Amino acid sequence: MTDDSECSKWRAVCLTLFPELFPGPLGASVTGTALDKGLWDLDVINFRDFATDKHRSVDDTPAGGGPGMVLRPDVAAKAIDAAVELCPTAQRVYLSPRGRPFDQDLARDFASCDGLILVCGRFEGLDERVITSRELEEVSIGDFVMTGGEMAAFCLLDAVVRLKDGVLGAQSSLDNESFEGGLLEHPHYTRPREFEGEAIPEVLLSGDHGKIEKWRHEQSIKLTKERRPDLLQNE
Ligand code: SAH
Repeated sequence: MTDDSECSKWRAVCLTLFPELFPGPLGASVTGTALDKGLWDLDVINFRDFATDKHRSVDDTPAGGGPGMVLRPDVAAKAIDAAVELCPTAQRVYLSPRGRPFDQDLARDFASCDGLILVCGRFEGLDERVITSRELEEVSIGDFVMTGGEMAAFCLLDAVVRLKDGVLGAQSSLDNESFEGGLLEHPHYTRPREFEGEAIPEVLLSGDHGKIEKWRHEQSIKLTKERRPDLLQNE
């Protein structure tokens, strides 16, 4: 985490009521090493720091009645404005189950922009007016509802950061991945040659790279047909 106000490197600014959750899983393994090496930056802003009343309240009851609480637009707007100041050219995202489904194409778009402001909701979510006035794009990580946007931010950032230059070792480990060629990835095997009576497919031990490539491609198509025929229709 840094305090330089220039958005010189790819930067994520997360807005949350639970700053202690960060960097969480992003601090481990590949994304954590990349953070330590300065290949990307992470800033965290606490909505509560922008509350103005004496109770430091960030939420209120829904207009029109109903269960739950709604994040106040005045507090959220000030927090978002502070994030924009940190990285003015970042894309602004509100993690929301109503949003555009997150996928590998969007991960690539986000990896090639200057940075991301990620608004993590809680309770019933954000007041609609702040979504509009601060031009937040709603992005969903799947058709289910979680209690907060923080874990959605972890998923999204993990998928984006691994696409940044220098984060993963070999470029080839990106190229063959599921979704990169519109297909799911082929199965993987490693030693031992035999495991519980099951051998590694013979072709993978043949040393014939042409044959191996062909087999892997066929397996990809077969798996995609079985599991995600919708991906083939999109081609
Ligand atoms: N009332 C909302 C759900 C609120 S869940 C609705 O029905 O649409 C509380 C917060 O969790 C949301 O503001 C959002 O930031 C986050 N969240 C929950 N599920 C999510 C998902 N599938 N994708 C992205 N964010 C999600």
